[in-house]
Amino acid sequence: MITGPNELRRLPSVDALLRHSELTDLQHALGHRAVANLARRVLDSARAAIAAGSGAPSLDSLIHEVAALAAPLVAGPLVPVINATGVVIHTNLGRAPLAPDAAAAALDLAQGYSNLEYDLDAGSRGSRDRHLEWLLTQVTGAEAGLAVNNNAAALLLALSALAAGREAIVSRGQAVEIGGGFRIPDVMRQSGTRLVEVGTTNRTYLRDYEEAITPETAVLLKVHSSNFAIVGFTHEVGIEELARLAEERGLCALDDLGSGCLLDTKQFGLAHEPMVQTSVAAGAGIVCFSGDKLLGGPQAGVIVGRRHYIDRLRRHPLARAVRIDKVTLAALVATLRHYLRGDAERTIPVWRMIATPLANLGERAGRLAAALAGEVIPGRSTVGGGSLPGQTMETRLVALRDSAPDALAARLRRGRPAVVARVDEGRLVLDPRTVLPEQDDALIAAVRAARQS
Ligand SMILES: *Cc1c(COP(=O)(O)O)cnc(C)c1O
Repeated sequence: MITGPNELRRLPSVDALLRHSELTDLQHALGHRAVANLARRVLDSARAAIAAGSGAPSLDSLIHEVAALAAPLVAGPLVPVINATGVVIHTNLGRAPLAPDAAAAALDLAQGYSNLEYDLDAGSRGSRDRHLEWLLTQVTGAEAGLAVNNNAAALLLALSALAAGREAIVSRGQAVEIGGGFRIPDVMRQSGTRLVEVGTTNRTYLRDYEEAITPETAVLLKVHSSNFAIVGFTHEVGIEELARLAEERGLCALDDLGSGCLLDTKQFGLAHEPMVQTSVAAGAGIVCFSGDKLLGGPQAGVIVGRRHYIDRLRRHPLARAVRIDKVTLAALVATLRHYLRGDAERTIPVWRMIATPLANLGERAGRLAAALAGEVIPGRSTVGGGSLPGQTMETRLVALRDSAPDALAARLRRGRPAVVARVDEGRLVLDPRTVLPEQDDALIAAVRAARQS
């Protein structure tokens, strides 16, 4: 019969466990103390199991348990993923992949010093975002611009600087939740702005705004309904009308565009996504949008508009708290240069994916299907990421038959690189549109490995 004290004596010490070669390798990666703590945890639970009447686990199984706890820590929390979902701007998969030179610019700047706030000609303190501002004025037509952490911060800063202690008027249909718990009314409260909702969920007219204006009003806010569509009996006030009303009454028309689209989506067979240049030309005082949605750059909040408003934002204390870092700034500048040169749809990954011709997708799907004994079937990709809700693009999918497609999908997610795919009608489906072309071979290898494991 197994007796507790004897079984306890069969357990190795922490040090003995750590001397095993599999665990010495982990100590190189994570340091001695972290692996020793994991070993202690495993031995503690073995002792608890023995106290409850179990036998002592073997040395191999103890080592295996420590290694299993350590493995995700070695990989780190973030690992590269091949996005085979067909959702171009996938919020859960890190939104926009960077263009190669945007990534290179970020890496370059990260590894050394830079003239971030230094004027190299004058040899004295300079401005961190003068070049960015120039680029923003060129590509959007605005008088001035700056960038912060993300678009949520951009909206918070704009409302704090322009409307704290006063009122901002917003259509009831736009006082919405954007996703991930980001709610427009909450941001407004946080900024100290009083929210005045006008109209009804489906219909709001210019006179609704007009009638709500009081001496307390500072901002007329428009929020793009990024991730839903209200269809049928609806009416919204366009930015042109709203900007004109704001101008007449000495108010700021603030347009939160969300996706930050600088190219006309209609040329790719999609519905029209509101463009930054249009809002600027319409006379919006402030236009804000994300850096990592349809702009296709790094996580950032971009703010453009009238010089006097932008200056007020820049001087507000929150601007310092939400400022963009140099690595992001480098990537954002490199991204904007593609728009300046007019090659964005060929160089920026999200646009390249959206613009990929069907024939090209069919060819790649054919090659993947041949390598994986799959079948090419028609399907639909989506833009995602809070742009063009409900809009889809025709694509060619690779369908793989498998007796347990969900289990195969799970093994693909656990592989390295991880692959995220869809399961549809009992088949695993891969959409080549969102797989970077240089990842096709890695995708083939990943599927083969997942099938064998
Ligand atoms: C996505 C979005 C935001 C939030 O932008 P982040 O860059 O994710 O902070 C705000 N407003 C609108 C309309 C959006 O679509």
